[in-house]
Amino acid sequence: MKKYNKVLSIILASSLLLAVVLSSCANLTLLKETEETEVKETESSTNASSSVSETAETTTSVEMPSFNVPEEAAPISMQYDLGHKYDMTLELDADAQVVRGTVRVDIVNQTDATWNTLVFRDYPSLFTADGEVDAASYTAGSDNEQMTSISYFEDESGEILAYERDDNDVSVITVTLKEPISPGQRHVIEYEFEANIPTDADRFGAYGECYNVANFYPVLSIFENGEWSREQYIDMGECFYTIVSDYTVVLKTPEDFTVISTGLTVEVEEKEDGKYWNIAAPCARDFTFVAGADFNMLSEEVDGVMIEAYYIGDDMEFGRAMLEAGIDSMKAFGEAFGKYPYPDVNIIETELFAGGMEYSGLVMIGRDLEFYSTDYSVVKEVTAHELGHQWFYGIVGTNPYLEPWLDESFASFSEIVYADVIGDDYMSSEFDSYRPDSYFGREYTPVNRSYDQFGSEMVYFSSAYTTGEAMLYYLRDAMGAENFYHMMRTYVSRHAFGIVTEADFLNVVYEYCGTDNNEVNAVLEFYLD
Ligand SMILES: [Zn+2]
Repeated sequence: MKKYNKVLSIILASSLLLAVVLSSCANLTLLKETEETEVKETESSTNASSSVSETAETTTSVEMPSFNVPEEAAPISMQYDLGHKYDMTLELDADAQVVRGTVRVDIVNQTDATWNTLVFRDYPSLFTADGEVDAASYTAGSDNEQMTSISYFEDESGEILAYERDDNDVSVITVTLKEPISPGQRHVIEYEFEANIPTDADRFGAYGECYNVANFYPVLSIFENGEWSREQYIDMGECFYTIVSDYTVVLKTPEDFTVISTGLTVEVEEKEDGKYWNIAAPCARDFTFVAGADFNMLSEEVDGVMIEAYYIGDDMEFGRAMLEAGIDSMKAFGEAFGKYPYPDVNIIETELFAGGMEYSGLVMIGRDLEFYSTDYSVVKEVTAHELGHQWFYGIVGTNPYLEPWLDESFASFSEIVYADVIGDDYMSSEFDSYRPDSYFGREYTPVNRSYDQFGSEMVYFSSAYTTGEAMLYYLRDAMGAENFYHMMRTYVSRHAFGIVTEADFLNVVYEYCGTDNNEVNAVLEFYLD
């Protein structure tokens, strides 16, 4: 996730007021010029390419620096049967703003404990119709609970299972099993749900022509340390914590809709009552889709990965910016962190207020980001950040509530990797200017706090994002770039499709530079608790 207004406030807080004011003035002037020439530009971009595929072919990208990829960082291969298997039959009822369906989930117990209960998370139950999540939302019996309904939970013997919502968080659903699930055992549960989609320009919301349908179905939580994880939902951050699973989906939509989802669309059937999208999404953290009647697409294949940039209506310049940033990012991150193991990634311009959001195989980019810069540089930067999450959240899983820096600092550092490729040294020179007297972000340490320990959203974004980014930047310097990226690739390939904690990352760092490297230890001790 990235919220751009928050990032601006971080920069202001970092005593860069003058620079920001100056650049804002410049931006205002440029914005005015852009407005005046808008009509002309639209015409020329329409003339410049008569078809989507032509545009894609002519897209160029900056030449990549070459990293020496050692054999140890073996290619990461997508795997099947790693986790649960969700088999979903879904319908997006656009007029009613409802998503509903039946889910059969083949659950695997990978822990040492026998499960007598299961905990599912039903996030839509927390929202009001206009997308608010407040304290009242969590209370059982509140009106918000009407936002979702679950018809039944049933086990593989056809037995109806009792379930209840937590009193202080209705999104937590505990299902009592009739047959316990032993370690290593699989068991099928079926349930039927219906969720109202709020009217909101957010990651779960319908707004304008766009339906952002994320975290919408009851999803199995993670069992660890003897209990089911049940971190509170947060609006300006994440609590989505799942193991990698296989998804097969049939999704019915209105006939004029395009669906952009996690995984690959295997087949689209057009029937009298609508369009049926058959989707296979193996080895995914989650299943998410964006749908609407007004999407167009630019694409390019890079190293065997199809990068698809979906834009709204005739907003082709936006699409081109996302595609360019996508090509540069996927190449750069593949070399820096290990080759992306999936066949495709989708970058989607959508109605998402002032930011971006990452999901398995797709990223949402807020359409209003266009107005945060005159040259789409903010769109590109947010695209790079969200694509960085494909490695740090997607491939390497973390608990985003308890250890948000393990995905946000790394996704923010991905922006530096991207900036290196396009020759933008703005953040690098900021970080450099703070040495050797003091490290950047000193007022926002330690970065390795849980979400509730930051005290405010501003401190959360300043610390877990920008200050953690600085930490990885200084760590790269302390280790040397070659050694650092070698370490990162080992970290990713070793923990691909698993879940990590801080100790897993530090263990790899110490493997590469020992526990007595003064320069490395100085960085780690400064930023981490
Ligand atoms: Zn993020």
